[in-house]
Amino acid sequence: MVELKTKTSIAAMHAAGQVVGQALTAVREAARVGVSLLELDEVAREVLRAAGASSPFLGYRPSFATTPFPAVICASVNDAIVHGIPTGYRLGDGDLLSVDCGAVLDGWAGDSAISFVVGRPRPEDLRLIDTAERALAAGIDAAVPGGRVGDIAHAIGRVCRAAGYGIPHGFGGHGIGRRMHEAPDVPNEGRPGRGFPLRPGMVLAIEPMVIASGKDTYYEADDGWTLRTSDGSRAAHAEHTVAITEDGPRVLTARTTD
Ligand code: MG
Ligand code: MG
Repeated sequence: MVELKTKTSIAAMHAAGQVVGQALTAVREAARVGVSLLELDEVAREVLRAAGASSPFLGYRPSFATTPFPAVICASVNDAIVHGIPTGYRLGDGDLLSVDCGAVLDGWAGDSAISFVVGRPRPEDLRLIDTAERALAAGIDAAVPGGRVGDIAHAIGRVCRAAGYGIPHGFGGHGIGRRMHEAPDVPNEGRPGRGFPLRPGMVLAIEPMVIASGKDTYYEADDGWTLRTSDGSRAAHAEHTVAITEDGPRVLTARTTD
C-alpha cells in the first residue's frame, strides 16, 4: 500500500531530511586521505545524536541480509556500489566514496546519498559521479502529479545509458515515510507511462546507481552486505528523499552546502 502524507507530515519529513543532509555534509568535510570509514561513521553518529535523531540503518535487517547492519552510514569505496559496511579501511588518494545515510526524527525517516572523490580525482570518476547526479535530477524532475513511477525510472535509466554506464538492477529507490522502505519500488530503469501513478503526498527516495564499465552485473561480498561490481569497475550512487506536491517535486534532503 502506498501511503499519502499530509503537508504536516511532509514538513516533519523535511526536518528529518535536513538532519540527513547535515550528516552527509559533515562526512564529506571529514573525508580525507588517511581517514577511516569507521571515523566517518562516527561523524554521522554525532550529527544524528546532536539532532536527537536515530538511525534507520543501524541494526537494519531486511530479508536479504544475514546480519543486522552495524553502522549509521553505508560507505562504499571504488568498486563497491552500495551497502558498504564502514571498516577500519583508511581512504587513499583518488578513492571514489559513496556515502548513504538515513535519519529518523519524530518518527519520520529521511534517506540520501552522495558520491565524491577523496584527494586527486580521475576525470572518469568525476564523469561517473556527475552522471549519477544528473540521473537523480532527471528522476526528480519526473516526480510530478499525473506521472507514473515508470516515468521516473525511464528518466534515470536514459541518463545512465546515454553516458554508457551499467545499472545494477534489483536495487533502487522506494517509498519512504515512518519506515525507511515503503511501497512503491522505484527502479532505475523502466518504461514511461507504466507503474504506480504519482500523486501529491507521495514521498519517494530516488537513487540512481551507475557502473563505469557499462555492465550491469554485481555480487554480494562476503560481509553479507556490500554490493560490488562483477568486473571491479567503479560505481557511483546519488539519492534524495523527494515529496510529490501539487507544486511539483520537493527535495526533503537538500544540503545547504556543496
Ligand atoms: Mg539511502
Ligand atoms: Mg534509499
